[in-house]
Amino acid sequence: MSTVSSAVTDFIHLFYPHVCAGCSSDIITINQELCLRCVSQLPSTNFFEQRGNPVEKNFYGRLNIVNAASGYFFTKYSLIEALVYELKYKGNKAVGLEMGKRLGTLLLSSPYDEVDLIVPLPLNARRLKKRGYNQATILAEGIATVWDKPVVTDAVIRNVNTETQTHKGRVTRWENMDGVFAVAKPSLLQDKHILLVDDVVTTGASLEACGAEILKVPGTKLSIATLAYTI
Ligand SMILES: [Zn+2]
Repeated sequence: MSTVSSAVTDFIHLFYPHVCAGCSSDIITINQELCLRCVSQLPSTNFFEQRGNPVEKNFYGRLNIVNAASGYFFTKYSLIEALVYELKYKGNKAVGLEMGKRLGTLLLSSPYDEVDLIVPLPLNARRLKKRGYNQATILAEGIATVWDKPVVTDAVIRNVNTETQTHKGRVTRWENMDGVFAVAKPSLLQDKHILLVDDVVTTGASLEACGAEILKVPGTKLSIATLAYTI
């Protein structure tokens, strides 16, 4: 960078502070949301290259999936927790796009290439209204910037007046998830291999319920990718 443009960058920085979404350091390149130190500390799972990884195993016997993986480990008070918090509660869409891009790069070099389209897990209407966007859609859009697959947001819907119960056991939760998701436009999904995307997989109850609805459409195959995986 020339001295002049560097001076301009410094000047802009003074009035529009651009800090790392992970550690708030200001040693960061314009158009990037993470500093190099945070990038080097991202807790990669390497699950995309691993058949029978813990995310896939989580769905064994519950959902007929082709592949499933998460990019990073999610632990309490970690960098990934901070980034997901930025995306979900601080309106930081840029960090979601960047992390989606990183997920897309992992998908590019994985056995996921036969996927036809990306479907973000729909968010319930109340949260969507409050947040203004679905964080899974932001991640999906980030993925699509590096991995050339269409993002389809209107084929699957989350029904109004249904809430996920997260304080109960898996069996109860499954019962409560019944009817939460529905396929609104089956013709968009028919005979396609769908990649269902979400931010964090914990029990996988929502992905399972949504995936089960998708698989009711004739000829569909299902894979799952999430940004993070709760240990
Ligand atoms: Zn940082």
